[in-house]
Amino acid sequence: MKKQVYLDYAAATPLDPSVIKAMAPYFADNFYNPSAIYLGGRTARQALEKARATIARNLGAKPAEIVFTAGATEANNLAIQGVMRSYPDGEILVSAIEHESVLGPAGLFKCREIPVDQNGRVVLKELEKMINTRTVLISVGLVNNEIGTTQSLKDISNLLKAVKIHRERIHGASKLPLYLHTDAAQAPSYFDLHVSRLGVDLLTINGAKIYGPKQSGALYIKAGTKLQPLILGGGQESNLRSGTENVAAAIGLATVLDKVQQARIKEFRRVASLRELFLDGLAKIPGASVNGSQKYVSPHIVSVKLAGHDNERLMMELDERGVQVAVGSACSALRQTAQGSASGDKPSHVLSAIGLSDEEARSTLRFSFGRQTTKPDIETALRLLRDLTS
Ligand code: PLP
Repeated sequence: MKKQVYLDYAAATPLDPSVIKAMAPYFADNFYNPSAIYLGGRTARQALEKARATIARNLGAKPAEIVFTAGATEANNLAIQGVMRSYPDGEILVSAIEHESVLGPAGLFKCREIPVDQNGRVVLKELEKMINTRTVLISVGLVNNEIGTTQSLKDISNLLKAVKIHRERIHGASKLPLYLHTDAAQAPSYFDLHVSRLGVDLLTINGAKIYGPKQSGALYIKAGTKLQPLILGGGQESNLRSGTENVAAAIGLATVLDKVQQARIKEFRRVASLRELFLDGLAKIPGASVNGSQKYVSPHIVSVKLAGHDNERLMMELDERGVQVAVGSACSALRQTAQGSASGDKPSHVLSAIGLSDEEARSTLRFSFGRQTTKPDIETALRLLRDLTS
């Protein structure tokens, strides 16, 4: 079989072998229910709490502030629906380029979208104007999964602090909070996740994007944040997420988060140099241009517009030649196929929010890099792109 060049790490990552090893004992030997009080259960509980403490340490949080979920979609739903159900008169503001798992739950409540500039950055001045006395939650992703643009959460958090002070001065102590949530699913391999440095009250992480198991995730919930559970039952996870805990998945997530956070500075540099190589090559391809910010960006995601070319055709042609890339995000591609023909449907909301026309969005491919990506992989992709677009 031809060597496959996988350039879709933003969609899925292979499981880290050390993670498989760390998880293995918890499938069969130590299969116990962590709520059981005999020895086996207590051992499983200890392992689960150790995993929670590891995650908390990496986020600069307390273990009690971490709730395990089955992936980022669930964590985003818990953050948004959980808070908004607690404040039925409140309003949520979300950036216009959020992942569907943020937009979906936000749309169940009174919600407005914060505009972004052509680089995909939240426009702070607009955000400031949009916040009113009913705003209780703002959700802005740390790294966008389609264009890689990063946001300065600290600036947003500082703005919220200033607004709160102003709000109290004018209206007196408010009954409504003003929380900041971030979906950091794409961030842990490259960015600092300390919640106090980011200034967030809620933060989503996802094992599936960082070489951990799929359907593993967690939500950081700052102590004192009021939110309602979505899944009711046995009261696990401090009553916020009922259901017997998936101990193996929690251990997998903790192991891999620790590993990627330790390696993040080195890995940022390595992947950034692959990105540079890719961008240099793209500059020589007529009609190719990069969407989103060049400065505020995660090194692993490059969104490329190939003017005049249909992205689905290019993706299929690349696939035939052994190179796997994405047309937008995997989730929106799925939504399009579920609704019928992909090509007839609405193109990416992210690309349209940064000002691309439907036609330009349909000429855009997403390349995303990861641990196994090499220089020859990048060179192969560039050579094929040149051939297919000339
Ligand atoms: N948020 C972001 C930014 C993502 O990239 C993804 C997956 O693509 C998700 C949330 C959802 O993750 P999952 O499908 O693993 O729940």
